[in-house]
Amino acid sequence: MSLFKKIIDREIPAEIVYEDELCLAFKDINPQAPEHVLLIPKKEIVGIDSVEMSDEKLLGHLMLKVRQIAEDLGLEEGYRVVINNKDFGGQTVPHLHLHILGGRPMSWPPG
Ligand code: 5GP
Repeated sequence: MSLFKKIIDREIPAEIVYEDELCLAFKDINPQAPEHVLLIPKKEIVGIDSVEMSDEKLLGHLMLKVRQIAEDLGLEEGYRVVINNKDFGGQTVPHLHLHILGGRPMSWPPG
């Protein structure tokens, strides 16, 4: 069972900022910005490479929730959304997650 599934199941504590029947958002344990939230589907999807056509609605739901969560976090000045994929993408947890980072200006390109 992945680490994030344990957070969904409340086996591991997390600072949850949003939840509905399809997704969960919680604060990253090692924040890379003043605000750093992870938004995950409750469905166990390993990563963006693993999504199927049947996930289309779920993915749309996640994208729409990003905006709501960013508003709730007070990120009016902007923010960054990141999905790391596999080793070269820097993914360390094999459960699809969107990083929502804000509270400071972001640089480009990423490292
Ligand atoms: P990835 O590197 O896979 O894109 O992102 C995984 C993220 O999960 C990292 O930013 C890391 O800090 C975060 N993380 C790892 N373990 C935990 C945990 O137990 N609790 C929380 N809240 N975040 C975690």
